[in-house]
Amino acid sequence: MSVRQNQIVEIVKSEQPITSEQVAERLNLTRAALRADLSILTMTGILEARPNVGYSMTGRMPTNMIADFINNILVKDIKTRPVVVNVDTSVYDCVVNLFLEDVGTIFVQSGGYLAGVVSRKDFLKYAIGRTDLDRIPVSMVMTRMPNIVTLEDNETLARAIAKMVEHQVDCIPVIGRDAPGDGRERFKITGRISKTGIITVIHEMLED
Ligand code: ADP
Repeated sequence: MSVRQNQIVEIVKSEQPITSEQVAERLNLTRAALRADLSILTMTGILEARPNVGYSMTGRMPTNMIADFINNILVKDIKTRPVVVNVDTSVYDCVVNLFLEDVGTIFVQSGGYLAGVVSRKDFLKYAIGRTDLDRIPVSMVMTRMPNIVTLEDNETLARAIAKMVEHQVDCIPVIGRDAPGDGRERFKITGRISKTGIITVIHEMLED
């Protein structure tokens, strides 16, 4: 939307229903100067025009705005707090963590760097028929580096969704790259993008 169209939407939002004369007045413009923008906003379904009443919001968002949002918003703006444990944490303590933190995936670090990812199914697979969960470290059940799908701050939400679908995972660690002296690349965990998080962000956008 153009700056002018955004201004019109803001005016209609706060004063609806409002006539085109009144919108023109607020913007110090003539009605004729507004005609094109008002018809675009009506045709795209953002505004609705009722004869003898005026313009009001329809509450609908055009599909291209949703696509714009998904293609432009960045991982750094929507990532949430990661739940991280150390490689030597027991499977039992990780499961307790899963419930306490209300998440489905836990990230595992070693020496402060990403070492693994562990999800509900990993725990279930391991736990069936066993009683030694408090003695087994999470490193025995996790998916390890370098097989971990990661995201970086400047990737888009569209990219995050594509990675989740392509690799069939529910949650992806957001990482910062760190190259210590030995030349081996290591990743700091800076956040998480989960399916639940994405649904929450889209819900908030639609509520707005
Ligand atoms: P769930 O176990 O709840 O179905 P997922 O579908 O995310 O959760 O996990 C399926 C498998 O993929 C598990 O073995 C898990 O360790 C692994 N996994 C989860 N997230 C990632 C990721 N970001 N990168 C690589 N593997 C992952």
